[in-house]
Amino acid sequence: MSKTVDQQILQQYECGAARFSDKTGHEHYQRHLLFDHVVWPDEASQRERFEAVARSLRDLLAQRWLLTDQTYDRENPKRVYYLSMEFLIGRALTNNIVNLGVEPYVREELQSDPHQDWKEVVETEPDAGLGNGGLGRLAACFIESLATLQIPAVGYGLRYEYGIFRQAIENGYQMEQPDHWLAQPDPWEVTHPRQTVQIPIACRFELQDGMLRAVPGHATHLLGVPYDRPVVGYGGQTINTLRLWGAASPDHFNFGEFSSGDFVGAIVDRVLAETVTRVLYPDDSTQAGQALRFVQEYFMVCCSLADIVARFRRTNDDWRLLPDKVAIQLNDTHPAMAVAELMRLLLDEAKLGWDEAWDLTVGTLAYTNHTLLPEALEKWPVQFFELVCPRLLEIVYEINRRFMTDVQQRYPGDHPRASRMSLIEESGGRQIRMANLAIVGSHSTNGVAQIHSDLLRTRVVADFAEMFPERFNNKTNGVTPRRWLLAANRDLAGLISESIGDTWITDLGELRRLLPLTDDESFRSRFRQTKRAAKERFADWLKSTTGQIVDPDTIFDSQIKRIHEYKRQLLNILHVIVLYDRLRTDPSITLPPRTFFFAGKAAPAYRLAKLIIKLINNVGRVIDEDPVSRGRIKVVFVPNYNVSVAERLIPATDVSEQISTAGYEASGTGNMKFMMNGALTIGTRDGATIEMAEEAGEEHFFLFGLNAEQVASSRRWYSPRWHYENEPETRAALDLIFNDYFSRDEPGIFNPIRESLLDHGDYFMHLADLTSYADTQQKLGTLYADSDAWVRKAVVNVACAGKFSSDRTIAEYAAEIWNALPCPIR
Ligand SMILES: *Cc1c(COP(=O)(O)O)cnc(C)c1O
Repeated sequence: MSKTVDQQILQQYECGAARFSDKTGHEHYQRHLLFDHVVWPDEASQRERFEAVARSLRDLLAQRWLLTDQTYDRENPKRVYYLSMEFLIGRALTNNIVNLGVEPYVREELQSDPHQDWKEVVETEPDAGLGNGGLGRLAACFIESLATLQIPAVGYGLRYEYGIFRQAIENGYQMEQPDHWLAQPDPWEVTHPRQTVQIPIACRFELQDGMLRAVPGHATHLLGVPYDRPVVGYGGQTINTLRLWGAASPDHFNFGEFSSGDFVGAIVDRVLAETVTRVLYPDDSTQAGQALRFVQEYFMVCCSLADIVARFRRTNDDWRLLPDKVAIQLNDTHPAMAVAELMRLLLDEAKLGWDEAWDLTVGTLAYTNHTLLPEALEKWPVQFFELVCPRLLEIVYEINRRFMTDVQQRYPGDHPRASRMSLIEESGGRQIRMANLAIVGSHSTNGVAQIHSDLLRTRVVADFAEMFPERFNNKTNGVTPRRWLLAANRDLAGLISESIGDTWITDLGELRRLLPLTDDESFRSRFRQTKRAAKERFADWLKSTTGQIVDPDTIFDSQIKRIHEYKRQLLNILHVIVLYDRLRTDPSITLPPRTFFFAGKAAPAYRLAKLIIKLINNVGRVIDEDPVSRGRIKVVFVPNYNVSVAERLIPATDVSEQISTAGYEASGTGNMKFMMNGALTIGTRDGATIEMAEEAGEEHFFLFGLNAEQVASSRRWYSPRWHYENEPETRAALDLIFNDYFSRDEPGIFNPIRESLLDHGDYFMHLADLTSYADTQQKLGTLYADSDAWVRKAVVNVACAGKFSSDRTIAEYAAEIWNALPCPIR
């Protein structure tokens, strides 16, 4: 851009021409470059360009964003509040462009800037990694669907300064690096300091030996500062809000000590206050037990409820209307303190009586359970409540006293049942059972796939399902097709729209109309080309970012998700070793060339999961170095799995690995993303994979292994050693590991894997399923050789993925749990 253009912009600015019209986007962009960064547009960095594009898009949506809130205040519809400790958002730029429908303009105007490398501009945006995995990504998909369905909604969470750690791989080991994603100002967020809320804390925090310790007494406050992010519904009509709370200390924090000269002490207090939202806990599926996490949950709940109540009071003066105007969804038990906090607000602030407050609380709250793993069920020491929020503890005790009376009336003399159902666990230090609190204090408890909801009802919380059968329901998860198909896979999305029109974007069931096209040879050929192009793009990206070289002519087989024993990455790599051993035994066997992609982070404290990463990397290296396997099988560990990596790898994948031990994956959502991008699934009958196979027909799926019932019933007699001793391939594969074939330089490092599999009973039953897994993999390989048959199945999978849109899931929540309707913006 020439300086004369810049001068023109300057002139416009002087004339107060910051007016808004659909023609001024380009000028907004130029103006942001010039004035936000004070650089000439042709000298700006890609990062500065990104910020300018993002800010000009924000300009574009600002008025609609205000209008959305204004409309809700005027029409006073029932509003939905989604409380979640995690929102795994990823990048926002492409998604906002797509959902605002301004792509043509961005392409023409901004990409015509000769100094702008669009791809690089997109890449400079850091992933907002405010979540661990599926649970956080679900929250992100849900708020997008809520906005697209024009449902009045706010997402509430925390503004962690450090998101999920960045994973580097060194010598095959996972290394964790801090993810300082806010190091540069985030152009999407808008802070509203005037809507800051004050949160009472009944103790003070001190640093002792580098640990944060809560010290009783000396009650203080924390400030919750709202940072809002726009949530753009597809079509750009509704712009809802994701409100993330940042912790701060009040300006008068220990003001007395300032005057008394303890200047340093006051600054330390301030730093400690701000520590509350410093970092996301990186544990997936285990409870993080630390006091700071407890304070984070308390802080998030208090800030959000204060805000919700303030919004409610803006347009309603009768507390009895609360359940008619407010629906609060608790994403897992992390925000379950909301039960006690809402009661506190209704009792202490609104001055209602207990019974009325209780009915309103139960009528307003609803709870989603996400896991069947007992170690993930949250329990908090009574002591933490005493220290931080003693009033909430009083309320929990009173809820429990009344609830126990009900239980005794209903089941007289059944003491074991009463102690199972109590909100308080008495053994080993008193603890509050957050799932029990959430179920008792809400009108709805849902699981996230049919099998999960069934197991929840019949096994995990059977006592509660018996007492409150009407509260239990299922809402099978979904993912947003805007991000996971339309934006992530432009070629396939384009082909689909050309073939059946573009109504599928907001009505994914329409994909069924692709079914007849399985018989259309030219469609199949174009479908094949989109997959091939995606594989090439991924191979190029991988080479340029990691130096690893992969061959798009091989089958791309992906298992990308958190590393966890129940997800069984170990089963996958054991199968790879079986294949490798077959090649070593007889190099002449037919084996379609395959690239096995793994990606995923392990919780930093989860030693076995980290060792599995090391095993995967070591197996990969040995296979690469051995001429017998080179070019035939390859193992690639893609570092730092996040939303952006998923968006690249999923469209390029032929085979989706969904191989959890049956009964342990609540739903899965990765499975759905792969299905809508035309991968074939090899998987167990677990989570939503069961429903995916139902939709497409089992003949289009590659299901194997024990089902959930068989897993449960064979536990008593299951013997991993039997498999080791009686299955030659299993034994050979394991012996390669145990004899340090993959760890020549570090002998013995994989001993914990042997112990887990052979000495400690192989809890997740890898060896039970290895044979049927290998057989099913063989069938997949054979089918791949018949390229036409393969593509037909892939098309059927895409065509039958409609159920797994989060639009469908949200429509079900709205109709069956929230009783919420759309409120369109004029
Ligand atoms: C979808 C997604 C997940 C969840 O994957 P599962 O296979 O369902 O466990 C986790 N992380 C990221 C980055 C995702 O996009």
